[in-house]
Amino acid sequence: MSAATKPLPKSVLISESCLQQRIRELGAQIFADYENQELVLLGVLRGSVLFFADLSRAIFSAQLENITREVQIRFEFVQLTSYHNNTQPSAVELIRSGSNYLKQRHILIVEDIVDTGQTLDFLCEHLWTLNPKTVKVCTLLDKPSKRRVPVPIDYIGFEVPDAFIVGYGLDYAQQYRNLPYIALLEST
Ligand code: 5GP
Repeated sequence: MSAATKPLPKSVLISESCLQQRIRELGAQIFADYENQELVLLGVLRGSVLFFADLSRAIFSAQLENITREVQIRFEFVQLTSYHNNTQPSAVELIRSGSNYLKQRHILIVEDIVDTGQTLDFLCEHLWTLNPKTVKVCTLLDKPSKRRVPVPIDYIGFEVPDAFIVGYGLDYAQQYRNLPYIALLEST
C-alpha cells in the first residue's frame, strides 16, 4: 500500500487514558466476579492482543489490593476468520482453536469489537461443544447498531458508533494495530 493511498487515522475516538481507566474498572469487576476461582482468559486473535494484555494486568492489579483473595488466570487463544461472497451472508471459520484445557473451566472470551455478532455467536457455539463450566464475554468495543445476531455480552468497555475503527489492536489492512488509542479512519 503506497503512502498516497493509505487512509490515515482521522480523529481520536477514545484516548489512551480513557482506555486505561476503563480497563482498570473492568479488571476490578472481573476480579470481584471470579475471586478465588480459576479463570481462562480466551483471547481472540489478532485484534484483542493489546486489550488482552492490559486487561490481564488490570485483574492482577485488583488482586494486589485484596491480598487474601486471588483469581488464577490462564491464557488461551483462538483465531477466527470471516469471509463474504455475493450469494451468502458472511461465514466464520476457526483457524486456530483453544486447547483441551477448556473442558470444565470458567472461560472469559476477550474480544476487540462486537459488530454483527456473527463471530462471537460462532465462537460461543464452538466452545459449548468443549464442555466448559461457564462461558462469558468481555469486549472492549460494542457496535450495537450493526448487530445481526443477538449475543449476550457480560462486560463492555465502550459503545461505539457505526464507523470503521482502528487502533489498540484493531487494524485496517493489518495497519494501525499499534496505536495506543482508538481512532476513526479518514475515508479519502
Ligand atoms: P462481527 O462478526 O461481530 O461482525 O465482527 C467481528 C470482527 O470484525 C471483529 O473481531 C473485528 O476483527 C472486525 N471488525 C468489526 N468492526 C470493525 C471495525 O470497526 N474496525 C476494525 N478494524 N475491525 C472491525
